[in-house]
This record gives sequence, structure tokens and C-alpha cells, in this order.
Amino acid sequence: MMKRAVMFPFLFAAFFSSMSLFAQHDWRSGIQWEEPKMVTPGAEYGQPPSDAIILFDGKNMDAWSHDNWEVKDGVATVKGGDVRTKQKFGSVQLHLEFATPEKVEGSSQGRGNSGLFLMDHYEVQILDSYDNQTYFDGQCAGIYKQRPPYVNACRKPGEWQSYDVFFTKPELKIVNGKVVDVIRPAYVSVVQNGVLVVNNYAIEGDTTYHIPPAYTAHGEKESIRLQDHGNPIKFRNIWVREIPDSNAKPPRGKEFYADDRTVDNLRKEVEKLKAALEKAQKESPEKAVDEKAVDEETAETVETP
Ligand code: MG
Repeated sequence: MMKRAVMFPFLFAAFFSSMSLFAQHDWRSGIQWEEPKMVTPGAEYGQPPSDAIILFDGKNMDAWSHDNWEVKDGVATVKGGDVRTKQKFGSVQLHLEFATPEKVEGSSQGRGNSGLFLMDHYEVQILDSYDNQTYFDGQCAGIYKQRPPYVNACRKPGEWQSYDVFFTKPELKIVNGKVVDVIRPAYVSVVQNGVLVVNNYAIEGDTTYHIPPAYTAHGEKESIRLQDHGNPIKFRNIWVREIPDSNAKPPRGKEFYADDRTVDNLRKEVEKLKAALEKAQKESPEKAVDEKAVDEETAETVETP
């Protein structure tokens, strides 16, 4: 009996000191992350950072499928059809600036209409929505016929406006040219003139005029498209950055502590001590400890700093 009575304090001390190892040491996930590359930000907000792909810097439309659009004084104006980027993209950060015509003509969808199509399929509407009623999920900065912007952050006709768009491409299972499963929808966030107007919206499929949204087959990367809807919308300062899938992780090694003890070993140590404690309790029930108190103390000990 003496031996057991001596053993309890020893086991408790060992148990808690072992648990405290978890709290006191620097845990690392073991994921083999690559070091983030250095990027030089633009000198001012809206200017392209050093890793941006420039789609229009005011000089020409060389990055686009055709050059019908008029380029003058650093500005490209819609003319003669939609334009698509020659380079194709999946998930991106995109910046562009646009201005709807100063001379207001037409109404609803007929006033200052263009559009930014991500992957050639998913339209962030561009429209003169300043004092111009239309269906809400068709107004400027909305995801066309799916999601209106939270607020109307439009500037007046003729004034320059900006979009900063964050887009994650969808994961589609395609068999024989048809989408048989949407493994993960596309997601989009839109900041208009510095105002967050759509946040992480799960796109429901193609943004078409005449049928409900549904995903249709496309590649892992597709062109970015700007729409010609018959109105002379102006564009400037268009750039894009390819971004990785936030949820894609490199292989995971063993978790570890910075002093080289593995998490597995520490866990085993704790389990061993727990088992020894339980055994001792069974052999000497009159000395049984208050397990609730142990759990509470343990929870406090392992709390993340
Ligand atoms: Mg449009």
C-alpha cells in the first residue's frame, strides 16, 4: 500500500509534466510549404505589383484576341465585338478600371452595359447603375442574374471606377464534354471603388441571359472576356495575377515540435502515463482520483497560447 500511495503523486506529476510539454513547445504542422516569393507592390493602390500580368496599360490591345477596340490617350473603348485575352487563366486576382459614357443614353440594361467574364463564362456585370433602375441581379458589380451587389457603390456616368476581383475557378467533373459533377463551384469576391460588394459568392454556373445558371464544360484555364454590349465603355489599367488554390496543400510530413520531439511520441508518452494511472486506480480504488478534476486541469494545461 505504501508503494501505491507513493506512486500516485509520481504518476500525477509525470502526467501533467508530459501534458505541459504540449503547451510549452513550438508546434509545427509538418506541411512542406514553399517559401512565399518576394513581390514588390505597386507604388500606389491599384497599380500592378511586380508579379502581375499586364492586360492593358494604355498602349495597345496586344494581350487580347483582336484590336478592333479604339485605343486613344491611354484608354481602350469598346468597339466591334467582345475581346478575349490570348492567355488563359484559372483562379485570379484581377484589377480593372472602367467608365460608362458621360452622355447618358438608354435605360436599364441598355445604359452603359459591358461585362467582365471570368473564364469566359461567369459575368461580373458592368453597367451604368447610377440612377438607372434594372433588375437587381443585373445591376453593376452583380454576378449576372445570380447575385446583386450588397450595395450600389457606383460613381456617376463618365467617372472612372475600379473593380478588384478575386476569383477561384470551379472544379468540374467532365465526361464526354458534359459536366457530370460540380466538385466545387467557382467563388468570386468583388470590390468596387474600394467597397466590398460581393464576398466569396459560390457561382451557380454560366451567367446566361435566357436560361437558369448551370455549369457547362470548359478547360482548367480560359480567356478573360470583356463584353461589347453596344455601348462605348472605356477601360484602363487592367492587370491580373494568377493565384494558387488556397486549399491545395503540399505533402504533409509528421507534425513535430521545434526541439525535434515528434507529436506522436509525446502523445504515446501521455497515453502510457494515463494507462499507468488508471491501472493504479483500479488496484487501489480507495485512492481513486477525481477524474473530472484531472480533465479540467489537463484542458487548462494544453490550452493554446
Ligand atoms: Mg453585361
